[in-house]
Amino acid sequence: MPATLIERFKRQELSVFNSAMETLVAARTAELRKELALVVAQKQELELALQRKNQGQSQLETALSDAQLLHEISAMLIDENSIGELYQKLVEAATVIMRSEFGSMQRYDPTKGALQLIAQHGLDEEAVAYWQWVKPGRATTCGKALEVGERVIVSDFEACEFISGSEDLIAFRKAGVRAAQSTPLLTRNGRLVGMITTHWTSKQLPSARDLRLLDIIARQAADLIERNISAEALRNQAERLLEADRYKDEFLATLAHELRNPLAPIKNGLTLLRIGKPEQAPRVVDMMERQLGHMVRLVDDLLDVSRISSGKVNLKHERVMLKAVIDIAVEASHPLIQANEHNFKLAIPEADVWLYADATRIAQIVSNLLHNAAKYTPVGGHIELAAEVAGGDVLIHVVDTGIGIPAAMLPQIFKLFAQVDGSAERSRGGLGVGLALSKQLAEMHRGRIDVVSGGDKLGSTFTLVLPIAQAPGAAVMSAAAAAHTPSDERSLRILIVDDNVDAAETLGALMEEVGHSICVVVDSTKALAGALNFVPDVVILDLGMPYLDGFAVARQLRSEPGLGGVYIAALSGWGTDDDRRRTREAGIDHHMVKPVKLVEIVDMLSLVSAGNAAIASPR
Ligand code: ADP
Repeated sequence: MPATLIERFKRQELSVFNSAMETLVAARTAELRKELALVVAQKQELELALQRKNQGQSQLETALSDAQLLHEISAMLIDENSIGELYQKLVEAATVIMRSEFGSMQRYDPTKGALQLIAQHGLDEEAVAYWQWVKPGRATTCGKALEVGERVIVSDFEACEFISGSEDLIAFRKAGVRAAQSTPLLTRNGRLVGMITTHWTSKQLPSARDLRLLDIIARQAADLIERNISAEALRNQAERLLEADRYKDEFLATLAHELRNPLAPIKNGLTLLRIGKPEQAPRVVDMMERQLGHMVRLVDDLLDVSRISSGKVNLKHERVMLKAVIDIAVEASHPLIQANEHNFKLAIPEADVWLYADATRIAQIVSNLLHNAAKYTPVGGHIELAAEVAGGDVLIHVVDTGIGIPAAMLPQIFKLFAQVDGSAERSRGGLGVGLALSKQLAEMHRGRIDVVSGGDKLGSTFTLVLPIAQAPGAAVMSAAAAAHTPSDERSLRILIVDDNVDAAETLGALMEEVGHSICVVVDSTKALAGALNFVPDVVILDLGMPYLDGFAVARQLRSEPGLGGVYIAALSGWGTDDDRRRTREAGIDHHMVKPVKLVEIVDMLSLVSAGNAAIASPR
């Protein structure tokens, strides 16, 4: 082969080789690039993983330090015993968590609707006094939180709309406070019991982590306050029970004493009547009547109190004249005033004053005040009953020159069984019931009783205040006034039905003394026959009788046409509103409670005899 041909052949081969080499190099380069990209991606992944690991570790470290902090707080709380110290520790824990310079805890007082400072950290005396009580609407974070019912954060007081220009802001500047947060303390069922606040000297916005930890402290604080509230309630209840128990013991001792007092002379009186000289009898009977009256008063008062407390007293409101009511009260208290040789003065308005009230109950209040005045005023003292109209009220003053009441006892004496003291020199008998009863009765009439006293031996003034009523038309007469209006009395035919022979016969004898005709039936099954035979104007009927009780007898009498106009009065040991309702339902016109005073029967008979029986309805 010629040399040129060989040369050409070699060049061709070389170029093929070159291009083959180039293809090879390009392919290898592409492969290497891919591998490089892979390595870069792997490197990035590794870097990311490393970063994540570092982050997790720092989160773990934060959580660990939070947990440690909370653990330390819990340990600290377990160590402390006094509730005040616990509050203090919680405030301090809150300031540590929030990295704040000041902190405070308040307790919510629902009666005042305000927050009271109970623990604080870092505030000076002036600030403590200034924010002792905070009401809703105050220009503070706690005032605002109380108003809106949720956490309030103010990062800069100088730029806060509801704080700017307020007196609180001036106080905040003085105390060096620039920012604060207040978190309401809520019980597990959402009741507000207090507030925890942290304050900073510079602008501040607490982080979510800080607030989360603070919420744990707030939970503990709310539980603590709630526990304390329950403990206080229990303590108060225990104290009240102890006091009630003490009152009960004192009351039982006084009751035994008060009941024994009249029993002894009554017992002696009975012996005297049996073995003594006949001429002594009237004096003995007077004494026994007085003592019995005293016992009846005690028992009546006790019954009234229990009936008022159980809401069983219904007032019989009517238009009554003040004078008529006062007359009844004065008449009832007169014997004691006279016995103590007191100078008694009565000064009531000339003009008619009308009340819309239960006359008997108002008379009971006034008579009780007069009775006390007489009881607690030494012999020969002065007692005055004066009434005056002021605005829409009448003021009935009972003034005495007696032993007086210490200022500290003035609010106490209206409590049931309360007496100024049990010392012998003050003791005048009584159960400590009268004023409690009078106060309740006055309040049931939309009135009240006030008392003032100069103190020991300086006398007392009790004032019954009652709303006055419009004067009625001329035709309206009060029951109380009517009961004291003289009537043209006539002799009545009275049938007494009572299985207690002694009671029936003595009552019959008394009625005969007053001039009435009497028929006594002791067997209730014969009452109807007796009535048909005797044709009475009035039947006085015992209720508790064997075989046929008083209710049944009344129904028999009422179903007999020939006895249509007969007036039936029940005599019973029971006097509740329910008993009175039952007697009314049986057709009985009047209900008297044993032991009945003769004057009550005589009054009732006078009204029947004067044809005024409708007014003598039972109270
Ligand atoms: P009682 O007189 O039966 O003890 P009250 O309820 O009527 O009960 O009175 C309560 C207490 O108030 C009395 O025990 C007495 O200590 C005091 N008190 C009431 N009235 C007077 C008064 N006019 N002067 C001085 N103390 C009085």
